[in-house]
Amino acid sequence: MSFDQKAYNQAYYIANREKLKAAAREYRARNPEASKERDRAKYRKDINKSRADRRAYAAAHKAEAAARLSRWEKANPHKLANYESKRRTGKQFPGLTKEEWLSIVELFGGRCAYCIRPVAEPEREHLLPLSRGGEDVADNVVPACKSCNSSKGKLTPVEYLMSGRKKF
Ligand SMILES: [Zn+2]
Repeated sequence: MSFDQKAYNQAYYIANREKLKAAAREYRARNPEASKERDRAKYRKDINKSRADRRAYAAAHKAEAAARLSRWEKANPHKLANYESKRRTGKQFPGLTKEEWLSIVELFGGRCAYCIRPVAEPEREHLLPLSRGGEDVADNVVPACKSCNSSKGKLTPVEYLMSGRKKF
């Protein structure tokens, strides 16, 4: 009859469970650094594994993420401006308030700043575009119609006038 080491270990463990647990506790108490180091190693292993998972996921869904980000940017120009300002200067800008925006629209008589046509729902047009360092603050925002806003794009007002893109 051969000796079954595994069964023996199991039986030994079951018979001495409490004693073994106490010994392990005692070992940890006597060697706190070794236990901590083991926990840290496990943590590093887990976090690296999840980082690698995230990277693989991101690589597989790159186009999807870019489309989502661009939708978000279009829907949240205000937040984007704050984010851009914060990233550039390390400071949080409050961004244009609703009251400031309404008073700018009133100042322009509810008309597009470029084609001077009355607009029911003017868009916030940044004179110096956000992408070029402009901020979402009162003296950088004018109301514009959809058509002017999109044809001006990332140009400054002067570049826009010189571009020949401006239509009346
Ligand atoms: Zn216009």
